[in-house]
Amino acid sequence: MATVTKPRKKAAASHQTKLLIDGKFRDSVSGKTFATINPATEKEIAQVAEGSAADIDLAVKAARKAFDSGPWRTMDARDRGRLLYKLADLVEQHIDELAELESLDNGKPLKESRNGDLPLVVDCFRYYAGWADKITGKTIPVRGDYFCYSKREPVGVVGQIIPWNFPLLMVAWKWGPALAAGCTVILKPAEQTPLTALRLGELAMEAGFPAGVINIVPGFGETAGAPLVAHKGVDKIAFTGETSTGKLIMKNAADTMKRVTLELGGKSPNIVFADADIDAAVDGAMLGLYLNQGQCCCAGSRLFVQDSIYDKMVDKLAEATKKRKVGDPFADDTDQGPQIDENQFKKILSYIDKGKEQGAKCVTGGERSGTEGYFIKPTIFSEVKDDMAIATDEIFGPVMQVLRFKDVEEVIKRANTTDYGLAAAVWSRDIGKAHALADRIRAGTVWINCYDVFDAAAPFGGFKSSGIGRELGEAALENYTEHKTVTVALK
Ligand code: NAD
Repeated sequence: MATVTKPRKKAAASHQTKLLIDGKFRDSVSGKTFATINPATEKEIAQVAEGSAADIDLAVKAARKAFDSGPWRTMDARDRGRLLYKLADLVEQHIDELAELESLDNGKPLKESRNGDLPLVVDCFRYYAGWADKITGKTIPVRGDYFCYSKREPVGVVGQIIPWNFPLLMVAWKWGPALAAGCTVILKPAEQTPLTALRLGELAMEAGFPAGVINIVPGFGETAGAPLVAHKGVDKIAFTGETSTGKLIMKNAADTMKRVTLELGGKSPNIVFADADIDAAVDGAMLGLYLNQGQCCCAGSRLFVQDSIYDKMVDKLAEATKKRKVGDPFADDTDQGPQIDENQFKKILSYIDKGKEQGAKCVTGGERSGTEGYFIKPTIFSEVKDDMAIATDEIFGPVMQVLRFKDVEEVIKRANTTDYGLAAAVWSRDIGKAHALADRIRAGTVWINCYDVFDAAAPFGGFKSSGIGRELGEAALENYTEHKTVTVALK
């Protein structure tokens, strides 16, 4: 794990803004650019080359060549792993610079990018570096005089489309398993946050990845993402983003029979029983909801609290929430930065209005913070009912819904009454009860007496409309490999 130091305060001055195709940074074919905005000031940081179908086509050709006939195809697996280790080392060497750039482009507090996101990025690359030469097949006992074995081969050229909430970490989750498995990649970063991916692209070139293995095409969903999904030279799409976009991507990938994995949205239940350590549960609820300005796919945005401790817990949450410092992502004492952009800012405020209209009680917050930048006060709604919009929809902001429940069976049923199934948490000193809930809640991850604990080795992904496939761990390698069966006649 990277060492944790106090973050510096200076934001990097110059940025890579061009597309990375076939080992070179270049302008887009159209010559068009788009602005990336600092969400804390609403001011432009830089103009970035805007990729579209023509650029995607060039990137796919480069990735195809590198996969089909380039040095990547014949490189020893262990040497692929060495390149990933080298990339991890370079990220670690540039950790302060990358953290600053992430906070500048995304708005998350620098102490979080520096001590949260970046160490996880380094760890993820190292974890998958270790896997590169350990992806093996089986020998299979079949009937007759045959010797049968299976091998795992890279799926091929992979299009990877990611969101803006954890820009660098999402790249690591995508590149780590894909490159370890021997695939080549075309990354389409989110239009709101292209800068750190491009800087990582520079570091990947410095590490020595051959031309065409890693390509990066910033641009918009419809004009750069969609052509990547439709391109017949792409074997697989790995997507993280909204459930509605995921459904569209699945449909658009069908004609070319691409493999598709999806990491989508959530409305995760965080369940606190009366026998829990209430202070630990308060801390867990705060982390589970407010981390990253509430912009987490696994945010514990339905906080179920048992009747007998409900009022006490709401009071404690309100007290802790009022102490949260909202402001400049580069200030040491900032807990919460701005939301990512004007669209999200307006969407979150409109959900706050709906909560008030539909009769939930706004305990604290409930409005914008300041007059410049996309800042929203951390907000708590109590007396929330299951059918209110704030209890059913993914808000993706610092808005906590506290719901009241009486007993185990009731809360299991209500927790599962959602189309989503990404994550859940249970707080109780009765470990048997906690495990029983973990068994019955339909979600890809269940935390017991903790929240938002991630590790490169532990699979992450969703049940139901929260996605298809798993990222991280050995499970993610499944997404990037094909099983091939070879049968040899022995007589
Ligand atoms: P989004 O779906 O709007 O965009 C995600 C990416 O898809 C962007 O790069 C965008 O340009 C691209 N895109 C948009 N339309 C496209 C199209 N038609 N074809 C191809 N690409 C297209 O999502 P967002 O608002 O950027 O991200 C927030 C969402 O991501 C939330 O719903 C959140 O829950 C989810 N998320 C999920 C996970 C997870 O692991 N499950 C992790 C992080 C975020």
